[in-house]
Amino acid sequence: MQTAAELREGFLSYFESKQHLRHPSGSVVPPPDDATTLFTIAGMQPLRNFFTGAAAPPAPRLVTVQKVMRAGGKHNDLDDVGRAPRYCSFFEMLGNFSFGDYFKDGAIDLAWEFVSEHLQFPEENVWATVFAGDPELGLDLDETAVAGWLRVGIPRDRIVALPRSENFWQAAETGPCGPNTEIFLDRGEAYGCGRATCAPGCECDRYLEFWNLVFMEFELAEDGTLSELPKQNVDTGMGLERTASLLQNVDSNFDIDNVRGLIAWAEERSGTPYGGDAETIRVHRVIADHARAATFLIADGVLPSNEGRGYVLRRVIRRAVQYGRRIGLRSPFLPELSDVVREQMSKWYPELEQSRGMIQEYLRGEEERFAETLERGMKLFEEVATSRGISGEDAFKLHDTYGFPWELTRELALERGLTLDEETFTRLMTEQRERSRKTSTVDSAARLGGAPRSDFVGYERTEVLTAILAYDDLGDGNFQVKLEQSPFYPDGGGQIADGGYIDHLESGARAALVRSIRLSDDQELVFHGAGFAEGDRVRAVVPWSVRFPTTANHTATHLLHKVLRDVLGEHVRQAGSAVRPDKLRFDFTHPQALDTEQRAEIERLVNERIFANLPVRAFETPIDEARNLGAMMLFGEKYGDVVRVVEVGDGWSRELCGGTHVRTTAEIGAFTILSEGSVGAGARRIEAVTSGEAFALLHERSRELDELRAEVERLRREGKKRPEAAAGPDVVDERRSRAGDVEVIVVHARDASADDLLALSDRLMQEHAPAAVVLGGSEDGRAHLVVNLDRSLESRGLDAVAVVREAAAVIGGGGGGRPTMARAGGKEPEKLAEALAVAERVLVEALG
Ligand code: ATP
Ligand code: MG
Repeated sequence: MQTAAELREGFLSYFESKQHLRHPSGSVVPPPDDATTLFTIAGMQPLRNFFTGAAAPPAPRLVTVQKVMRAGGKHNDLDDVGRAPRYCSFFEMLGNFSFGDYFKDGAIDLAWEFVSEHLQFPEENVWATVFAGDPELGLDLDETAVAGWLRVGIPRDRIVALPRSENFWQAAETGPCGPNTEIFLDRGEAYGCGRATCAPGCECDRYLEFWNLVFMEFELAEDGTLSELPKQNVDTGMGLERTASLLQNVDSNFDIDNVRGLIAWAEERSGTPYGGDAETIRVHRVIADHARAATFLIADGVLPSNEGRGYVLRRVIRRAVQYGRRIGLRSPFLPELSDVVREQMSKWYPELEQSRGMIQEYLRGEEERFAETLERGMKLFEEVATSRGISGEDAFKLHDTYGFPWELTRELALERGLTLDEETFTRLMTEQRERSRKTSTVDSAARLGGAPRSDFVGYERTEVLTAILAYDDLGDGNFQVKLEQSPFYPDGGGQIADGGYIDHLESGARAALVRSIRLSDDQELVFHGAGFAEGDRVRAVVPWSVRFPTTANHTATHLLHKVLRDVLGEHVRQAGSAVRPDKLRFDFTHPQALDTEQRAEIERLVNERIFANLPVRAFETPIDEARNLGAMMLFGEKYGDVVRVVEVGDGWSRELCGGTHVRTTAEIGAFTILSEGSVGAGARRIEAVTSGEAFALLHERSRELDELRAEVERLRREGKKRPEAAAGPDVVDERRSRAGDVEVIVVHARDASADDLLALSDRLMQEHAPAAVVLGGSEDGRAHLVVNLDRSLESRGLDAVAVVREAAAVIGGGGGGRPTMARAGGKEPEKLAEALAVAERVLVEALG
């Protein structure tokens, strides 16, 4: 076991051999009903309903590899990335789980066998920490854990007892909890701090924790007392990157094979080698880490924004771009780097393939915008920099008004030997933080209390002539108002807030809507602009192009909800939704993935209702009456006495809802599912598009199909035209060997196009299955390589892409593909023989 892929697969199959069921990774975004963390931070999180007993696990023993992100909230390792060798922001966590099955002894035995026999870590370097006990909890030293480690052969002096703060796990103030035991590897004095007290738990890098076994055995009550859980569970977490760094005996998580591959890309692209000074090394590590994080976040539906998860994503992208510039990476580079991530990882995380377009689009957009900001900032910097230096005021303005990062100002100043008034800058920053702290507490709150209620007219219209009832200046060009009548839908019920503007009727001045504040039965609005005052007459407008797509998506969400219940069953419950202009997202409870037929059936039925042009109407009614009508309500939601019901057709679907809806379903146009996936145990997510977006998607798919058809037709004709082509290209050299049951075939051909090679490889694969085929050929001065592997080799950890890449380097080119089929091109056909020898060697080594 050596590579990250081998470790991942080795862990899964080891626990499979120990009767664990392989369970897929949940999303890196926790399900809507889990507000405990911003991101999924551990393998147990998507399984937590199995631990609490709210849902039955598919088996008493599970094994997973979970995507994890520790950035933001309580679990934030972001700032340590690059500074300390053992922290990533995004990483993969391997875990085995027992739901009332084995407990401490079983978990320790399983872990030990894996560590000593499979990872083959030198036993004399393995340490364990255990829970020392805690008087407040009324618990003593975890003797069972100590005895377990002694039994497998760890001597007492390598078992370290640590207090509650280190070795006791609890998810919250109350609820399930228990002691844990952590496994460390002593990396030797060279990694140590040299202190006499250095031991597991020390902050230095000598003792590296790589596996945590949590024993969930108690329930902590509000009064602080513990009781035993009816079922004792085990939850473990092993960091893939950390453990791989130990296996590969490298200095950090970033030096393991797959992450190093990303750094290699950046080295080549930037011309800046990874090495030398500590700062360059750090920059390379941060870029690789952030590229992975950004790629996986977008794939799970996180989009750059100014708050929450979206803000973390934005920070990660911006930091990568900023660091990229330092080593000479020209923007946009993240889309390409993210493609390398995808090629490496999509075999295990197919969502990277499915969301490829979206990932590319958002990375490019965000990077380009930020690069522009930097560009503009550089220009301004030139303007404000005098021969002596930069004033604190200018540095602050660059940061505050133009979004130019302070570190860059400092770097530029340093580079040119200019002075920089840091003191003034820091003072201005503190003042500004104070100001924004003050405004932000009132910002999202009502401040125009005395004024009469604002009348929301947005259900009927998107434009209205009205007046400013109350006005308050917020500074920085923002002002908060209450409009007599407002067409602006404030965020709520899953539907995002309307964008829009107001025009001053007299002066014609325009102010853009920045934020809506929803109050019970009232709203206040924040605009950016100038020249408005209390009493002024304004035209308030939600552009139809903004409102309509959102509205169509909202009604489509209701159709989808009803159809899901019809097709899958009444157990389907809405678990969350997001209705936006570009797409809709619907989360619901359902135990397994939808198959192709179910998806098609759902799409068909939703569209059937759209084409039937059913009327949509909304009415208010007492809550009891709504219940009698069977209107769908959100579980756990609090409703008032009088509720708004949205009805589609004649009672076909009834749902409590405050959102905006089309008048008849035909306005939705069409409905197409973009994706379907898991969001934690027992919950699924559908993303879909309607109307113009649906048309665009279908159009794109049909264009791709046309191209494929044309390609098939062309190949067919060529095959007819050149009967000799069936004989295949002119073979210069051919070698065959056997590795186990696999036939390894290496062919060097002349006058062969990439298509010729593909056809030949297909034939060889069929004739010699199971086979591993490597073909090289050249035509018109270009060299081509094809590597084709039997499917069975994929599960043995072989990767055609890796093989083709090594060989392609020899012919001065690059390539890509799938784990079973990869191709490459290059400029140096004269080196083909050498390239084929490299590929053959790599293959034979991998086949053992
Ligand atoms: P540390 O004390 O090093 O921060 P932790 O106690 O936060 O680790 P756990 O929450 O127990 O770690 O997570 C289980 C395993 O996940 C750890 O043993 C480690 O292998 C891995 N791990 C934790 N945080 C990170 C990270 N930021 N990057 C990579 N791997 C990590
Ligand atoms: Mg930690």
